[in-house]
Amino acid sequence: MGSRTPAIFVGHGAPTIALDADKGAPLARLAGSFDRPDAILVVSAHWTAPRATLGAVETLPLIYDFQGFPEALSRVRWPAPGAPELAGRVRELLGGDADEASGRGLDHGVWTPLVWMYPNADVPVLQLAMPAGASYAELYALGQRLAPLRDERVLIVGSGNLTHNLRRVDFSEREPPPAWAADFDAWAADVLTRWDVEALLDAPARAPEFRTNHPTDEHLRPLLVVAGAAGHGRPEVSFPVTGFEFGSLSRRAVRLDG
Ligand code: ZN
Repeated sequence: MGSRTPAIFVGHGAPTIALDADKGAPLARLAGSFDRPDAILVVSAHWTAPRATLGAVETLPLIYDFQGFPEALSRVRWPAPGAPELAGRVRELLGGDADEASGRGLDHGVWTPLVWMYPNADVPVLQLAMPAGASYAELYALGQRLAPLRDERVLIVGSGNLTHNLRRVDFSEREPPPAWAADFDAWAADVLTRWDVEALLDAPARAPEFRTNHPTDEHLRPLLVVAGAAGHGRPEVSFPVTGFEFGSLSRRAVRLDG
C-alpha cells in the first residue's frame, strides 16, 4: 500500500447501521488498517446542491434525515470537529466552482458509517454536496480535482450503496440476494478491479439491470467522485466489506490505494 491516504466508498445501507455492532465492525477494522487521517472529506448520497457545496466548518448537531427507525438513532451523537483548513483547500482546488452552506451539519450518509470508523469523533470532517445534474464524467472530474488531498493526509469518503432500490428490500432477509442485485454488484466489482473507468462512467448503459438497482441513482453517484479521487494512475482496488443486507442492498465497500 502506498503512502497516500486511501479513497473509500462505503455502503451505508439503512441508518440502523449506526447501532449495529456486527455491521460496524468491518468499518472499524477498515479505519484501523491505514494511518489516521488529519481530516475527512465526505460526499454522501443524501446531499446534492446546484453546485458542489461545502457544509459547515464547525461542529453542528447531526442531521437525522430519516423516518420510521428506532428512537435510539436520534440519540446518536458524533460531534466531530469541523475542518476549516480542509474547506480552504477544497475551495482552492475547486476554484470558483464551489458554494458554501455554513449552517448545514452532517447527514446520516456521513455519520452512520463514520461513528464506527472514528468512534471518538476526533477527526475533523467536512461534507461536500454533489452538484445536482452532473454527469458521471463530471462527478469523476470533481474527484480528480480533489485527488491531491490524498497526499495531504485527507481521507476522501463516498457514502452510498452499490445497489439501492428501497421498493425491493426484504427486511426478513429470508431469501438470498436477487440476481438483478447480485449481477450488478458483481459487474461493478469487476469493472473496478480491471479499472475500466470508461465502463464505469457508462454504467447506466452497460451495467446489468441499471434502473432496477438505481431507480434514482443518488446512492451510486458518490462512487464516481471516489473513482476520480484515484487521480491519474491505476489504483490498487480492494473490497474491505462485501455481501448484502435486506435482500438486495449491497454492502460492498471499495478502497482505492496508490
Ligand atoms: Zn442512503
